[in-house]
Amino acid sequence: KPTVAIVGRPNVGKSTIFNRIVGERISIVEDIPGVTRDRIYSSADWLTHDFNIIDTGGIDIGDEPFLTQIRQQAEVAIDEADVIIFLTNGREGVTAADEEVAKILYKTKKPVVLAVNKIDNPDMRADIYDFYTLGFGEPFPISGSHGLGLGDLLDEVAKHFPEHDAGDYDEDVIKFCLIGRPNVGKSSLVNALLGEERVIVSNVAGTTRDAVDTPYTKDGQEYVIIDTAGMRKKGKVYETTEKYSVLRALRAIERSDVVLVVIDGEEGIIEQDKHIAGYAHEAGRAVVIVVNKWDAVEKDEKTMKEFEEKIRAHFLFLDYAPIVFLSAKTKKRIHTLLPMINAASESHSLRVQTNVLNDVIADAVARNPAPTHNGKRLKLYYVTQVAVKPPTFVVFVNDTELFHFSYARFIENRIRDAFEFTGTPIKIIGRERD
Ligand code: GDP
Repeated sequence: KPTVAIVGRPNVGKSTIFNRIVGERISIVEDIPGVTRDRIYSSADWLTHDFNIIDTGGIDIGDEPFLTQIRQQAEVAIDEADVIIFLTNGREGVTAADEEVAKILYKTKKPVVLAVNKIDNPDMRADIYDFYTLGFGEPFPISGSHGLGLGDLLDEVAKHFPEHDAGDYDEDVIKFCLIGRPNVGKSSLVNALLGEERVIVSNVAGTTRDAVDTPYTKDGQEYVIIDTAGMRKKGKVYETTEKYSVLRALRAIERSDVVLVVIDGEEGIIEQDKHIAGYAHEAGRAVVIVVNKWDAVEKDEKTMKEFEEKIRAHFLFLDYAPIVFLSAKTKKRIHTLLPMINAASESHSLRVQTNVLNDVIADAVARNPAPTHNGKRLKLYYVTQVAVKPPTFVVFVNDTELFHFSYARFIENRIRDAFEFTGTPIKIIGRERD
């Protein structure tokens, strides 16, 4: 999916436009307890086009001076987007800060579409001519508060979408990414993996965007490590801000089959780890939890078990994810990582036979009858797997009102007991049979 970023100095209406374009859809980041909703990134669509959109204004870059912040937000757009919407304010005309943004955007080869916001009625259209001086061609008049002009703007944006998404790989290639806050050792882990014996690193594919994926092969299985560019060219100030790491993580998660949630074993679990892990779960990807820097931990025979319990308590929603304790530095247990990724990927795309599935469920229901509510009993007629990645099951019932979360959870657990779904979330959907 192409990515569109909105840039512009403060107060031009970036988040209003962002929300207009995203519409009523729920943010990809659902309400998971303990996970804050980050409305700076969302999927969106316009006519036949699906895309992702970023509000760079939501990325606040520490204590940097005002102009530095604006420049860095523009750089984020250049790094992350396929098409950039440069937003200005028609009520205030061209300002020095707009010119600063323009200067950064001149450096990119990526398409920039200039929009002039707050043109709330046709009489104000004359106000847009000044904006030609910014040097990005025809300015598009829009009104975020009235929802005017967005169609024309998005038509123009969509014209610049790349024909083919550079991120398409064969079905049997396992795509995975490493997410985690800065300094947990993601780059070191990538290097450790690629340094393993019998790993053949292919030529790094140059893609239209700056994202660089790393394809490689081990024991006949092809893999792609998604989005390692951000790990390689470090050093930009905004890369240490939380919202930017989240943005990077979200983009990588979306293109992956398996997500490695990396935790720093030396420092332990902090709130930010929980946020990041929440995104992986919510996106329906397979998950492996990696505790890195285990070499630096002072331990006795109980340490690992205690750490594991801590992880389980903090990441309740990831109860299906296996945990591996390793060290990128000493390479200890690095060789266990790929087999875990393989297994998680297999679970993620596992299809079970309908008759076996229904036998399992019938047996479970016989042993633990469905609950009644107001004198009415839930009846399960039939279960069928409707999708993989993640495995998704539809349960046909007499009344979806009676199909509560706890019983869905019970069904999920019976399915997990009967089949090998380690490492993957499972979705259970109740449907009423006509
Ligand atoms: P990233 O920001 O997540 O990509 O983290 P880096 O890979 O850049 O690692 C951050 C720091 O942690 C560096 O100083 C690494 O040398 C160190 N580091 C990474 N892995 C390990 C490990 O397994 N053990 C120890 N002791 N240090 C590590």
